[in-house]
Amino acid sequence: MEKDKIESGGEFLIKESSTEDIFIPEELNEEQQMIIQTCEDFLDAEIFPILDRIDSQEEGLMRNLIYKAGELGLLGVSLPEEYEGFNQDFVTSMLASDAMGAGYSFSVAYSAHTGIGTLPILYYGNEEQKQRYLPKLASGEWAAAYCLTEPNAGSDANSGKTKAVLSEDGKHYILNGQKMWITNGGFADIQTVFAKIDNDRVYSAFIVEKNWPGVVINPEERKMGIKGSSTVQIFYNDVKVPVENLLGRRGGGFRIALNILHMGRIKLGGTVLGAARRAITQSVQYANERKQFGQPISNFGAIKHKLGEQLIRTFATESAVYRVSKNIDEASDKLMAEGKEKPQATIEAIAMYAIEAALLKVFGSEALNYVVDEAVQVFGGMGFSAETDVDRAYRDSRINRIFEGTNEINRLLVADTTIKKALRVGFDVVRYSQHVVKESDKDAEKPVADLPYYEQKQSRTQNFKKAVLFLLGAASDAFQKDLFNQQEVLSNISDAIMQTYAAESTMLRVKKLEDMGHEKFSGLYRDILDVVIYDAADTIRKAGRDAINSLPDEVSDKEVMLERIDLFTRVKPVNVKDARRRIAEKLIDDNRYTF
Ligand SMILES: Cc1cc2nc3c(=O)[nH]c(=O)nc-3n(C[C@H](O)[C@H](O)[C@H](O)COP(=O)(O)OP(=O)(O)OC[C@H]3O[C@@H](n4cnc5c(N)ncnc54)[C@H](O)[C@@H]3O)c2cc1C
Repeated sequence: MEKDKIESGGEFLIKESSTEDIFIPEELNEEQQMIIQTCEDFLDAEIFPILDRIDSQEEGLMRNLIYKAGELGLLGVSLPEEYEGFNQDFVTSMLASDAMGAGYSFSVAYSAHTGIGTLPILYYGNEEQKQRYLPKLASGEWAAAYCLTEPNAGSDANSGKTKAVLSEDGKHYILNGQKMWITNGGFADIQTVFAKIDNDRVYSAFIVEKNWPGVVINPEERKMGIKGSSTVQIFYNDVKVPVENLLGRRGGGFRIALNILHMGRIKLGGTVLGAARRAITQSVQYANERKQFGQPISNFGAIKHKLGEQLIRTFATESAVYRVSKNIDEASDKLMAEGKEKPQATIEAIAMYAIEAALLKVFGSEALNYVVDEAVQVFGGMGFSAETDVDRAYRDSRINRIFEGTNEINRLLVADTTIKKALRVGFDVVRYSQHVVKESDKDAEKPVADLPYYEQKQSRTQNFKKAVLFLLGAASDAFQKDLFNQQEVLSNISDAIMQTYAAESTMLRVKKLEDMGHEKFSGLYRDILDVVIYDAADTIRKAGRDAINSLPDEVSDKEVMLERIDLFTRVKPVNVKDARRRIAEKLIDDNRYTF
């Protein structure tokens, strides 16, 4: 690829990436370390000591915590300086989201405020709107919410009925309707509300202030987890919204909603990291303390397996999250060099990575689910007690598979967008897959084990890509347009894409770490990579076989196709038990997450 061409989403499937293309958390500069430290200190001082009070929704407490975060500058990390922010790049704002992700319900309030609450105004507001609202949101004087979902418009978000009609004097839009599941809605001073003007088929977006007559906020919902996070229904009864508060252009609301959701999905991939690291630290500390059969349970292989695997999945998610964050910064820099203003360049860059956003949301939320589920298991009966943080972590993590688009919807988006993108760039997946069926016998003869370590890993991840492209082609050929109705097959393909991205990101990170001379853990890093690639191969093989076996009966060469999938997912044998044990032992020695 030419260096000045903007790399964009999904391209990883058709190109070989290098370590230069990625950012890894081990490259943090001093300023970034300071921001992380400030977030961690804030959680230690203000959040962790009062988790029960937060979860009981003590009156005014969460609102005040948002304000305190604002006083420390934590609400304006990505906002420009002219609006009282710190003008940091996407990687740095991701680092803040990641660190704050350990904060249970507070992290949800923080993400909603700084992300889906504030950013619609930064990215789509006019200068007057930005001047009026952003400094207050940066300082925490005001809090923000994002109001898209309605009782009958959840996954099908554009089907909402909330309506805006221009008043006779042309000065206001009269807003009527109902929004549901609104995070921060109980206290947010401003809301981005999506509504249809007159009989428009698509949304427009409006900035609505909580205190305007006709805005009615229901009592807090009772929830399974994130109990301290405010979640309410909001009614709009003839609310007079000044015409100046239309955000962006008429009919541009759904695009705003989608682009903000892309951003929210990538950020969710980041926030799960903080939560996962905390749950891992708690797991290993408990495992070291708790004795059964006369020894700490951390001595047992079954527990080491869990600790090792918790770390591996978190490491893989982290590698993928920071890889795409840097891609977004680079794409945004190039758009700015072409003359775009920074906010517009950033949101366009994020939209370019819609495939990665959706896959990170799914991969990250499922990684966290694994981590917290096994944390409860490591704690045994105590994990089931409401006295421990792992109980809270387990309940709080569940929402991540539901909001910012459910994991089903995001899985479909990954495959769907990849197919459409291939069509757009003229990549003929059907011809590719026919070629693979005919030609790839010679790949089978290549001895994998003889290659040097990284070449071997790289050849595996390249083969995973072949498997994905082959599946895309075979499924497109077999189902034609009906493929978009074959959700099970699309989800199989999506799983293969996700695993490929995570495996390649982990490989690039481990290689970069070794290139940078991180000798101390290099053996362990290779252990992580070995297991990630071994497991990714297994998942891709199963997903690929399921997809091929689900093609219509008339498809004649399924046996050959299955062989090709087996071929592309062949990996060198790895002693995964020993690899996980070595990783677990490092955690056990450190008695916390130190990778
Ligand atoms: C705690 C919480 C906080 C939230 N915060 C906000 C917020 O701040 N702002 C906001 O606007 N919204 C918010 N939401 C709403 C959230 O984004 C929606 O709940 C989510 O998009 C799913 O919509 P739904 O609940 O209506 O589920 P439904 O859309 O009814 O889905 C039910 C099930 O059907 C599946 N499904 C639906 N359509 C399809 C399809 N086409 N193909 C396959 N499967 C499908 C879904 O994956 C899911 O498994 C929040 C929700 C919760 C619970």
